[in-house]
Amino acid sequence: MSDKKSNAKNWGPATLAIHGNSRQPKPYHAVSTPIVHTSNFYFDTADEVEDFMREKGKGRVVREHEYARYGNPTQQETERKLAAIEGAERAVLYSSGMAAVLLTLMTFMNREGHIIFTGDCYRQTRDFAMNFLSKFGIEFSIVDPTAEAIEKAIKPNTNIIFTESPTNPYLRILDIPAIVKVAKERKILTIIDATLATPYNIKPIELGVDVVIHSATKYQGGHNDLMAGVALGSNALMTDLYKMQRMMGATPGPMTCFLLERGLKTFAMRMEHHNKAGLAVAQMLEAHPKIEKVWYPALESHPDHKVAMEQMKGFGSVISFLVKGGNTETRKFIDALELFLITPSLGGSESLVTQMWAMSFFDYPVEYRNNIGMVDNLVRLALGLEDIDDLIADLKQALDSI
Ligand SMILES: *Cc1c(COP(=O)(O)O)cnc(C)c1O
Repeated sequence: MSDKKSNAKNWGPATLAIHGNSRQPKPYHAVSTPIVHTSNFYFDTADEVEDFMREKGKGRVVREHEYARYGNPTQQETERKLAAIEGAERAVLYSSGMAAVLLTLMTFMNREGHIIFTGDCYRQTRDFAMNFLSKFGIEFSIVDPTAEAIEKAIKPNTNIIFTESPTNPYLRILDIPAIVKVAKERKILTIIDATLATPYNIKPIELGVDVVIHSATKYQGGHNDLMAGVALGSNALMTDLYKMQRMMGATPGPMTCFLLERGLKTFAMRMEHHNKAGLAVAQMLEAHPKIEKVWYPALESHPDHKVAMEQMKGFGSVISFLVKGGNTETRKFIDALELFLITPSLGGSESLVTQMWAMSFFDYPVEYRNNIGMVDNLVRLALGLEDIDDLIADLKQALDSI
């Protein structure tokens, strides 16, 4: 067993996604993971209940399952594989990415503390800070997505740095080792939402980050057919998260876990395609006369190109750009697309397109919206798994139609 573990360090992401860190015995000798649909797990005798509770009190596990809010075998197997891919000791699964974000923050934040968030972040994370943290009297700052801005914002009571990398929609890449260095010196917990990177393109835990979060709804699920979130890190930190998870009940259902675990089997292959498609489309767009500007970290024109190339293996298939013109031209382009569905989200098999201000920031005052970069002609693509040539042809004909 220990031998197998040490071998596992050399396994690549495709192998880890299929077997986890080691090959495990499978229930019923079933090759795929069974979906265990039950809300509770029974005891054989009255004595067994007492033994279970006594041993649990001492931190020992004599049997795995008791009540499904506390965990389910399908969920446990999915967590094992997610942890293996990430290179983390343990994973905790949630019913959505936002449940993972909020319950992680709620586990570690406290009244005396101060949280630093980086701007260009997921809208609901920003809204949680602005609308709820202040209600609880918890101090926070939202700063530019750079290591320098984070360091400058640190106060004596800063206890959490919460970042995203790449950010969304401008795909800013943070210098993670620089942030970790500053945080460790001051005993500040670092949390990164690395949904847009995935462990295929970056391993924040290896770079010293304490907790990594993903919306598994995106690349890990990969088929636009489920909602899930995951937090990953050391056993000690995940034990704290798990205590909150048990209470809050943002537990994913067994069917969701099955779909996610099934999606993981092709995770590495899909990411390879996403990276290739992202680069090809970004290069085509940057050279196109109807495009004003493109944001994709592999392009030399991207503000974080250098740090991106040092830190990451690829950049996925989210691309943001400005169409030449305004609202009218931008909508004409979007409506002319044949293969792209107009909807939020990313990382699935179908290609998606959004005009960011209308889809995600409609209710913000215009001035604030423009201030955070959600201008009329900003478009975000999330490429799917279609043939790259077909996607490029579709984008070109839609641009020509303007
Ligand atoms: C989608 C997303 C979330 C939220 O995840 P859900 O699964 O939709 O709850 C959080 N962060 C980022 C970066 C995302 O893209």
